[in-house]
Order: sequence, then structure tokens, then C-alpha cells
Amino acid sequence: MTAADFIEKIRNNEIDIVEHTEKIIKECREINREYNYFNTISDELALKQAHEIKKLIKNKDKSVKNKKLLGVAVSAKDSICVKGVESTAGSRILKGYRPLFNATVIEKVIKEGGIIIGKTSQDEFGFGSFSVFSGFKIPKNPIDKERSCGGSSGGAAGLAKKADFPHISLGESTGGSIAAPASFCDVFGLTPTYGRGSRYGLLDYGNSLDKIGPIGKTCYETALLQEAIAGYDPNDSTSLNAQVDEYTQVIGEPVKGMKIGIIKEAFGKGNDKSVEKHVNDGIGRLKEEGVKFEEISLDLPVKYGLATYYMIATSEASTNLAKYCGMRYGAFEKLEGSFNEYFTKVRSANFGDEAKRRIIMGTFARMSGFRDAYYIKAAKVRTLIINEYKKAFKKFDALVSPSVPILPPKFSEIEKLTPLQNYMMDIMLVGPNIAGLPHLSVPVGYEKNLPVGMLLTGDHLQESKLLKLGSVFER
Ligand code: GLN
Repeated sequence: MTAADFIEKIRNNEIDIVEHTEKIIKECREINREYNYFNTISDELALKQAHEIKKLIKNKDKSVKNKKLLGVAVSAKDSICVKGVESTAGSRILKGYRPLFNATVIEKVIKEGGIIIGKTSQDEFGFGSFSVFSGFKIPKNPIDKERSCGGSSGGAAGLAKKADFPHISLGESTGGSIAAPASFCDVFGLTPTYGRGSRYGLLDYGNSLDKIGPIGKTCYETALLQEAIAGYDPNDSTSLNAQVDEYTQVIGEPVKGMKIGIIKEAFGKGNDKSVEKHVNDGIGRLKEEGVKFEEISLDLPVKYGLATYYMIATSEASTNLAKYCGMRYGAFEKLEGSFNEYFTKVRSANFGDEAKRRIIMGTFARMSGFRDAYYIKAAKVRTLIINEYKKAFKKFDALVSPSVPILPPKFSEIEKLTPLQNYMMDIMLVGPNIAGLPHLSVPVGYEKNLPVGMLLTGDHLQESKLLKLGSVFER
């Protein structure tokens, strides 16, 4: 059943929302036993919400008519704060942390009648591309359990594919964490423009990069959740005060005459051949619909994107993580020794290796004497990258590349990767993330049972164009 049909049935009281919610919580538990998509299933909250909705329907409350997500299960990446529900961002250092407030996106979902079913598994604080750098259980690919879901929003994408009840996931991307897992799990993942929505209540990774966005089985559902969460928030000074489009309205609209640039540097060397083949099929599919394509060279994002991204992201991450010291949030130890000894004990015991690596790298890049050579330089290159994209969007509605250069790898293969090889997974994704540009990963086909994603990148605030193009792939 599609989300739209489901909402209609709930509205008309043809499905009992409480019974339905009880049933899906059971299903989530079963899925979780095998696939590890949840760090926490928020059954109490979900049932409380279901009862409230049931009451509204019974009382024929007028608000029921306008709730965009009425009764639809929504999961949240663990880094998105849900009041009273353990929120760890995948880190053991936040074990036991129950936020006293909801993130703005959660408030919005609840207001639209969406039911929060739990917190999904991820790389610790978003540090990773395969969800294997987690303080807890590692999510498994819904298509092949020996393979990765991608990351860092791995649980979110896995669940979006696996759940056979109406459900949409809230993911988060700093440098590719929505598109990469969407591609590996055969679902749609939209990373909105930086600032299109609120980051208030997000356990942040890199403040100038983080975006919360939807992951869905269909393009329509992805658009629906984006419509619910977008908008200005006085609690987040970086959120944009710009009108929000009705994203669901563009689904299925004609795309004839749109112009897409094929990023030359994103094809050829470094890609798995089969990935490229399916992305080319995707391009062919859009051509059939009357989309025009032309090659464009985008040198800077591909050449300097990774270095720029990892410099900025680790710098911001290292300052963000300073507050986790065993005093305020999550993990505590017996208070003894000097402050320094105590902090060191808590942080050594509870951060994973990748988090430690990033703290060290980020602190180094920000050190006096190095700041100008690294962090400030990266910020300058970032501006050059933005300018290069802006020039391209004078001519094109969107740009296309593969989402990830490889098919979902086996866990045994990931173990052999060096940190640098891990970072290289994001080669296509860091560019749009650094530039704050919206991008959509679209499932375009299967190679020997393994899914391939195609990346469409748009100009700032042009999410609608991407969703319209993406919807060609679900017709
Ligand atoms: N894989 C990238 C990283 O490790 C991106 C992660 C993200 O977007 N949260 O930083």
C-alpha cells in the first residue's frame, strides 16, 4: 500500500491506527533481530501517538484532514533528538542520554501526524560510509546480509527498504550519509539544501555541513517527508527563511526539455563498470522522457573535494565532541583524579577508533600555526567549489554522476580498507555537501542482485526539480 492510500484509509477510519501501530512495532522487533536497523524502538511514544490520533479521528477533529503524515511510521537517525527516548548518535559516550526536548524536525513530523517508531543505527556521530564504525550493532544490507547498508545513515536506509508497512526514514548527511546508504539499499534519499530545514536538536557532526533529509522506498514518500520537515526555524540561525515548495505536487510531472550536465570527471577511472552501466541506463531513461544531456567538466569538486571536506568536517567535529566528557551527557565514570584524568578516562573508554582519529585530525588542523595552512585554506577552496557549481547551474537544471563508485561491499571486504580508502567512497558526494547543494540518489537498476544509485545534484533550493526527475524512476 502506498503512503497516500494508507493515509486516506486512516483518515476514513478503515484502519485502526492503534492496532496497526502495535503490529508494526512487532515487525520492527523482528526485523531488528536479524538486521540491526534500530538502536532504540520507541514503542511507548509510538503507541501514545497512535492513541492520540485515534482519538482525533473518533472525535472527527478538523485537524485530521490536513495532517500530511497521518499515521505513517517515521524513524529517526539516532543523532536526531527525540524527547525522552535514548539518543546516542551511535556512540557509547552518549549511552543513556535521553534528550529533554524534540529536534524541530521531530516536532514537525509529530504535528503532521507521523508516528515516531525509533532511532536508527549509524556510524558513530556520522563518521563513516558503511555504518561499521558504530558503538553498537552494525546494520546489514536488506538485500544481502553479508554486505553493508552504506553509511552513515545505514539503519535508516535499510529499514526504508525492508519495512513492508508504510514508513519513511529521517536521515542526516554531512558529506554523503543520505545518498550513499540510499544507493546501497535501493531506495530514494534526498539531501536538501543546507539550511532548507532546521538542525535544532541534531547531535551535530559538522555544523556548516549537516543536513537532515528523508529516505523513502518511493520518490513520493521521500517528497512527502521533505515537505513536512522543511522550513525556517527561529531556533536555528542557519535555517533559511524561504518559501517551502509543495514537493509532492511535482511527482510525475513531465520532465521534457530539462537540461542535465553529465559530470565528466565522475565517469571512467575508479568506478565499478557495472555501476557506470546502470547509471548510463538511468540517463537513457531520462532521455526517453525528453531530458537533454550534455557533458560538463567539474574539476574542483572531484579533485579537491575530499581534502576540503575532511579538513572542514574533522575540524568542526573535533570541537563538537569536546562537550562529551562524562560530566553532562551520557556515559559517566566514578569521579576521581584531576579533571584531565577523568575526561581522558571517559573519552578513551567510550569513543571508537574512528572518532578518536577525527578528533586528532581536526584538532591538528585547527592548531595555532596550522590554522591558515589547513582550515582557512579549505574554507577558501570551498568557496571556489561553490563558484564552479554555480556557473554550471546557469546552464543546467541538474548534474548527474554515480552516487557511489562501487556496489555494496561485503563486511569482509570493508575490514581490509585503510582509512583513506574509506574516505574515498564519498568522492562523488562530498562536492554537493561542501557546496550545500541538494542532491537525490535514485535507484536505477541491479547488477547481479545488487542495487545501483544515480546521483542528481541541483542548485540551491531546487529540490523540486530533483524530485520531479527522480519520480520518472517509479512510474
Ligand atoms: N562518510 C562521510 C564521513 O565519514 C560522510 C558522513 C556523513 O555524511 N555523516 O564523514
